Amino acid sequence: MKATKEHQLLLLSLQAFDSKINQLRTQLINLPEVKELETITKKLTDFGENLKSIQGEEDAINQELKRSENDVELVETRIQRDEKRLASGTGTAKELEQTQHELETLHKRKSELEEVELEIMVRKEEIDQRLKIQNSEIEKLSKAKADLEASVSTKSSQLNDQISKATEERNESIKNISVDLANLYEKIRTNSSGVGAARLFDGKCEGCNLTLNAVEITRIKGLPEDEVVRCEECNRILVRV
Ligand SMILES: [Zn+2]
Repeated sequence: MKATKEHQLLLLSLQAFDSKINQLRTQLINLPEVKELETITKKLTDFGENLKSIQGEEDAINQELKRSENDVELVETRIQRDEKRLASGTGTAKELEQTQHELETLHKRKSELEEVELEIMVRKEEIDQRLKIQNSEIEKLSKAKADLEASVSTKSSQLNDQISKATEERNESIKNISVDLANLYEKIRTNSSGVGAARLFDGKCEGCNLTLNAVEITRIKGLPEDEVVRCEECNRILVRV
C-alpha cells in the first residue's frame, strides 16, 4: 500500500489518541473505589444479617420481660386483695389466719419473681448494648459507602468527559488520513491490542518492541517514502521517523 509520508505520520498522532482513550477506559473500569465499594457492600449485608438476628433476640427478651412483669403484677394484685381483707377485719379468726398465711407465701413468691425479672433485665441490657454497637457500625459503614459512591460518580464522570473529548479529537484526526490507510490501521488496531501503528525507531518496532534484523532494515531503507511498511513480527504499520 502507498500513502504519503504526511499521512503515515498522522497515523502516529491518531494512535496517540487511541492509546489515551484505551488508557482512560482501563482507568474507568479499574477505579479502586469500585473494589472498595464491593467490599463495603458485602460487609453491610453481613452486618445487616447480624442486626436482624440481634433484633430477634431483642423481641424475644421483651416478650419474656413482659411475661415476667405480668407474673409480678398478678401476685401484687393478690397481695393487695389479701391486705384489704385483713384490714377490714371481716371473716372468722380462722379465715383471717389463713389469709395471713397466704400473704406470707405471696410475698415470698413475689420476691422470687422479682429476682427472675431482674435477671431478664440484665440479659436485656446486654442485648441492647450489642444492638447499639451494631447500629453504630452500620451507620459508619453506610456513611463510608455513600462517600465512596460519590467519589466513584465524580471520577467516572471526569473520565467519561476525558474519553468523549479524546474521541472527538481522534475522529477529527482520522478525517485527515486517506481512507485506505485509515481502514488498514483500524483493522490492525482491532486485532493487535489497540495498537495499529508504531514508530520504527533506532531499528526497533515500537509496537512489539522487537529489533528488526539488519537485512530487514536495509530492505526498508531501500523502499520509497510513500511505501507503507509493516512489522514482520507484529504485523503493525511501521512509521519511519
Ligand atoms: Zn512489531
